[in-house]
Order: sequence, then structure tokens, then C-alpha cells
Amino acid sequence: MKRIYLSPPHMSGLEQQYVQSAFDSNWIAPLGPNVDAFEQEFCAATSAPHALALSSGTAALHLSLIVLGVQPGDEVVVSTLTFSASVNPIIYQGAKPVFIDSETASWNMDPNLLADFLSARAQRNRLPKAVILVHLYGQSADIDPILALCNQYGIPLIEDAAEALGASYRGKAPGVFGKAGIFSFNGNKIITTSGGGMLVSDDKSFIVHARKLSTQSRDPAPHYQHSEIGYNYRMSNILAGVGRGQLQLLAERVAARRANFEFYHKALANLSGVQFMPEAEWGLHNRWLTVLTINPAQFGADREQVRLALEADNIEARPVWKPMHMQPVFAPYESVGGQVAESFFRHGLCLPSGSSLTRGEQQRVVDVIHAVHQGV
Ligand SMILES: *Cc1c(COP(=O)(O)O)cnc(C)c1O
Repeated sequence: MKRIYLSPPHMSGLEQQYVQSAFDSNWIAPLGPNVDAFEQEFCAATSAPHALALSSGTAALHLSLIVLGVQPGDEVVVSTLTFSASVNPIIYQGAKPVFIDSETASWNMDPNLLADFLSARAQRNRLPKAVILVHLYGQSADIDPILALCNQYGIPLIEDAAEALGASYRGKAPGVFGKAGIFSFNGNKIITTSGGGMLVSDDKSFIVHARKLSTQSRDPAPHYQHSEIGYNYRMSNILAGVGRGQLQLLAERVAARRANFEFYHKALANLSGVQFMPEAEWGLHNRWLTVLTINPAQFGADREQVRLALEADNIEARPVWKPMHMQPVFAPYESVGGQVAESFFRHGLCLPSGSSLTRGEQQRVVDVIHAVHQGV
């Protein structure tokens, strides 16, 4: 049986003309016309006022923390249900994460828990330096109440929209609401440059500063002069060409992933104990991954038995992210709540969801899950 992957890259063929133009013009470097055009086209696609193409989403998060002045000993609030890349840059800065649990409508940061935490901290005069809000699996968090809290306490909001390109929140792209937003073009994301990321902001000076940091922090001088520490975080002109070809098909990619979800939903939603990640009323879920939970008592098998049965049929499925407050490396840090995210982790399964997935492949996935349910 041919292996079915969770979320493989899906090339369109449009990428090659842009990569070829980089070769033809010998722009084989970071910076170059594809990078400039990719940034502009990304702004057009998301309505972000300013954008900076980088080597990864992680680099984008790191630079946003630096520009915001996050320093050793500072605290940064972050969603606990996420991938570790949302948190690692906090540690790069010597700062301390504080993890906040999920709500059940979108699985993202619970605004009520954030409100309680910030009010308690305000009383002790120990407010965090920033909030990193993750839009998980392609669904926007409930941004309005979280942004209102950040504004009330004067704390900048950074949106981790790495998984949420093509989604919406009340008609706009998640990622463009906060002081900064980050996106990822890693190989498994909804569009890819094999590796890459984007930082967006409505504050031009924010992007200007991040751009300088990303290219070794050169001061404006004919010689090499530096007055702050720099990084080598820029996207190459070749990879930006891949991104330009990918971005043109974003709407089709979202439609394909949502169609995957519809197929799984139709085939599996009526099995007892199966529940799909909901789509919150505030926007469009891009269904980057189709995610469901399995109640073992009702279903007759647990998440891990289902995952192993799929693996035995050469199908890659993954447990939901293990929450950050449960990670050994983040054990020393504070967390607020956590039981909701723990339950999603314990029972949650991500199904193969690539935009190139065929209905035949999806049927294989569905058949295995039905067989486990029936105890075959
Ligand atoms: C993929 C991802 C990142 C990191 O992006 P890279 O481009 O791989 O560095 C950050 N946050 C979340 C939620 C992600 O899924």
C-alpha cells in the first residue's frame, strides 16, 4: 500500500517560472525581485500593510519579540495548545512563557482565562511583555476579546498564524489584527516554500527594524558597521519564487482542504464517540488539518489504537499537539488551566489532510477507522 502522508507539499507548476527567472537574472541570493514581489503579493492576499519574507516562521516570531524589546526575565503569555516553535523564541530571548489553556469553540486561547491572569498580574504590577496568540490547525482564535484585553493593559499582541493562512476572522485574515503577525511556509503548511516565513505589521517602523535585524543589522554606512546584534533570517530569492507560485493557488488549496474535511465528516461523524474540531461562528476554518477526538468508551477503541491501525495500513496520522505545559523542556514555567488542552491531546487525532489527497486515499483512511470501530 502506498504511504498516505499527513500534509505533504503540493506543487502547482506555477512555481518554476519564478524560480527560472531567479536563475536567468542570477539573483541567487537572499533579497531580489522575487522576495520583493512575494512580500507585495502576500500583503495583497492578506490585507497586511507591511510584510517581511524570512527564512522561517520561527525567525519571524523571534524578530517580533526582539523588536518589542522582550528581554531576560520578562514574561510572555502564549497558548499552551500549539507547536513548540510558538514558544522557543521566548526562551531564545531569556524570557519566561506563561501558558494559557484553550476554550472549546475554536480550541484556541481562552479569553476568560487571559482576563483573569492579566487582572491578577495588574494588581501585582507584573504585567507580561507580550501575548502570543496561536490560530491552531487553521482556525482563528477569538481575537476581539483578546485584543481588547491587550489594549486595556497596553500589552502588544503577536499572532502566530503559521497554520492559518487563508482562514478568516470576522471577514479579515487572522495575523493582521495584532502589533505583529507571523506565517510559515514550512513543507507541511497550506502553502510552502520548502522552508520560510512571513512577518506582517501595520506599523512600518516595526517591519523596517525587523528587516534590518534579519540582514545582520547593518547600519547605514558604506563600510560594515553594527550598533545592535544581527541575524541571518532572510528568505532567498529562489524560495520566494516558489512562494509566489504557491500563493496564487491559496484559495484552491483552502477549498481542497475544506473538501477533505467534508468527506471525512460525512463518513465518520455519525460513529459514536467521534467528534470533529468545530468551526467557530466568527470565521472560516482553512481545515489545514482535519482533526477529530475519539471518546474511547463510546467508540470502543482509543485514539492511539486508531492511529496504530492507520499506521499498520501505511497511513500517517498524528496525535493533537502535546500541550506546552506538559512538555519536559517547559516544566519550570507557569500555566493557567490546562485540562481542556490535555483532553484534546489525549483524545485528538489529525487525519491525512493534504490538498493533493485523493478521494480513494481518503476512503482508505475511512475504511480503517470503520474497521477499528466495528472491532474487526
Ligand atoms: C509551523 C509552525 C511554526 C513555525 O514555523 P516554521 O516556519 O516551521 O519555523 C510556528 N507556530 C506554529 C503554530 C506552527 O505550526
